[in-house]
Parts: sequence; structure tokens; C-alpha cells
Amino acid sequence: MVPISRTLLKVDLHTHTADDPEEPIQYTSCELIDRAYHLGYDAISITNHNAISFTRYLQDYARERGIVLIPGVEVDIVGKHVLVVNAHGAILGARTFDDFRRLRIPANLVVAPHPYFPGFASLLWHMRKNMDVFDAIEFSWFYHSHINFNVFAIRAAARHGLPLVCTSDCHHLATFGAAYSLVESEKEPEAIIEAVRAGRLEIAANPLKLREFGKHGVEHITDVTVGAIRRLLPGEGR
Ligand SMILES: [Zn+2]
Ligand SMILES: [Zn+2]
Repeated sequence: MVPISRTLLKVDLHTHTADDPEEPIQYTSCELIDRAYHLGYDAISITNHNAISFTRYLQDYARERGIVLIPGVEVDIVGKHVLVVNAHGAILGARTFDDFRRLRIPANLVVAPHPYFPGFASLLWHMRKNMDVFDAIEFSWFYHSHINFNVFAIRAAARHGLPLVCTSDCHHLATFGAAYSLVESEKEPEAIIEAVRAGRLEIAANPLKLREFGKHGVEHITDVTVGAIRRLLPGEGR
């Protein structure tokens, strides 16, 4: 039997950078791309909160390092996070799921990020009520072998026949590289989106040690709190 040769791309479709208007991120988009280059990534999406931080300059910067940069955003819909990869500007206007249905385009890959994690921004029952808008469900990097909110995402993905996409939801450069997806695809944005949609991908992640889990949990709560204070300041907020 002739072995089937497969091209597996190292991909992370959920990351944040200093261009994020809502959370205090300490590294630039170029620094993230540099890190991705050193770690051998093939494609990433920068998915800042309610802002598409995709420019021709960044696309070229990534391309020169062999990385496909895909436009993305983590948009608030009824206050809940929804990840849009291959995003376009109009999607930033969506506030409700009905808006989202009207504004989304077929080229978007819509992922439910951290849907069952404790926190106001998690979709919880909003995912089940609006399952028609989602193409995939996120398998988060942030888990411990005994504290793992991904188990609910795994069950939901199986129940609804959707693929799981593993991401880093990177807010701190040190955590980038710990979790990603291996996507069986040509190295082109549309082909990657199509492969994810069709479930041609694998999860690459390991559970965190308890100390790391605690440390990153505290970092996350600090980031969210600083972000919330920022949005309360005059002139900030969406
Ligand atoms: Zn989020
Ligand atoms: Zn995020």
C-alpha cells in the first residue's frame, strides 16, 4: 500500500497583540509574527477584540517569514465573544446574533471561543441557541488534566458535528506555542479555512501543570479587569 502523504500546517487562529483596543497586551503584532516564525508556524490570525488588526504591512511581514496571516477579530455579540477568522470590516457592526447572521459572509470561519469557561464573555447557552452561525468550536490551551472546561466543548462538537479548533488565545507571548492546530491543507488562507470547516485538523496541546494553570488564571483575571476599567473610561468602549 502506498502511504498517503499529508501536509500538516501549524496554525493558530486565535491570538491577541498590542493593537488590541480592549486588553493590555505587551507585545506588538510584529513580535508575535517573529515568535511564530521561530516556532515554525505556517499560519496565524490576529483576533483582537472588536478590531481587525490586519494591514498590508503585517501581511507582507508575515509572508517574508513564511507565514500566512489571516484577518481576524474576536467580536462581542450580546456581550459574548465570537471569533471570526477571514473577517471583513462590516462584521464589526454586529451587536446581536441577528445582526451577525445578516452581516456575516460565506468566507468567514466562525468559531465559538472558550464557550463553557467561567466568565461573562463565554457563550454558554448562547452557543446552543445560535448554533447555525458556528463553523467550529474552540479547544482552549487553558486546561489542567483535572480542571478542564474543554470537556463540554468536546461534547458539544460531537453532538453538533462541528470540528474542534485548538488555539492559544495568546495574551502573553510566553504562552504562545503551547497549543495549536495541525491543519491538513495547502498553505493559502481560503484552503486553510475550508480544511478547518471540513474537520481536516488535529489538536496539538498538553494540559498545564497546576502551578501554571493558577498563574495564567490570575493573569487572565487581571487582564479582564484592566480591560473592563479601560472600557469605563470616557471615550473608550465600543
Ligand atoms: Zn475571548
Ligand atoms: Zn481571545
